[in-house]
Amino acid sequence: KKDARARATLFHPDMKQSFERRQKLKADLRDAIARGELFLLFQPIVNIVSGRTRGFEALLRWHHPEFGLISPVEFIPIAEEDNQIVVIGRWVIAEACKQAALWPGDIFVSVNVSARQLADSGLATHFRDCLADNAVGYRRMTVEITESTLIENDDVALGVLHELRAMGCRIALDDFGTGYASLSYLRRFPFDKLKIDKSFLHGSAMAEDRAAIIGMICALAQRLGLEVVGEGIETEEQRLILAQTGCALGQGYLFDKPLSPLDGTARLMQEATVRGGMSLPKQPARA
Ligand code: C2E
Ligand code: MG
Ligand code: MG
Ligand code: MG
Repeated sequence: KKDARARATLFHPDMKQSFERRQKLKADLRDAIARGELFLLFQPIVNIVSGRTRGFEALLRWHHPEFGLISPVEFIPIAEEDNQIVVIGRWVIAEACKQAALWPGDIFVSVNVSARQLADSGLATHFRDCLADNAVGYRRMTVEITESTLIENDDVALGVLHELRAMGCRIALDDFGTGYASLSYLRRFPFDKLKIDKSFLHGSAMAEDRAAIIGMICALAQRLGLEVVGEGIETEEQRLILAQTGCALGQGYLFDKPLSPLDGTARLMQEATVRGGMSLPKQPARA
């Protein structure tokens, strides 16, 4: 029938395949925590000049029994679709706090939080309980959100963020510069940190132009009292651009890839033995 043919052209076989994979992932994700398939890696966030570790960002991974390692870029949106992210996100927070307790008190831990999680009015209480249970100071926790998070649920989200900040947690605006209303969002909430998106470093613009844009962002952030983190630093040239424009912290493969908790600890121990030394990257690591 003409009708059926029209539908068939709208619905390609590979679309069907990716739809089926998505549905399977969504169903499998429900048991992923219970089966121990989720785990966190921790990527160092370092002093961009000395290379010393200041904190770690917790990055979620899923080891799927059939498909192997799945990127959060694929499964987080699926988890957001049916609100599984609320339960998964609470697990991430608990795990990150347990890990933070094993590291020195001047090392912070960053956790990504998506829009749906901020619609959960009990979120700040969950953070408080997990931090207190592990005797981790509230100030050691940084909550990373993106601009789209604030667009999606204004008032509830802002309320939760204010609660977290009143407790002493730090709030970071992640992927800064990728959204639509970047500058106006800086005024909507009193952020503590600003993470410059890696697209500023990896874009096609000339090095000079990139340096000028990054320099302006850093100057603006300093005026607003924000600490700037440069994301996705892969080369020494990129590190220099950021360091010279006043960006305090850096994160990227140049310094280290996301690490297992044990490798994170090993990194801290090695730095402690180098005692204040410049432990700049030896080998650009790959994820
Ligand atoms: P993000 O929060 O912006 O995290 C930074 C991403 O950049 C990570 O990807 C990290 O592995 C990657 N990266 C680090 N250094 C470099 C580099 O030098 N070059 C390049 N090209 N990439 C680098 P990952 O781990 O795949 O995570 C992707 C995104 O998934 C995160 O972006 C975050 O938005 C989301 N995500 C990860 N874990 C969680 C979580 O526990 N909860 C929520 N809600 N989202 C999460
Ligand atoms: Mg992040
Ligand atoms: Mg980011
Ligand atoms: Mg991101």
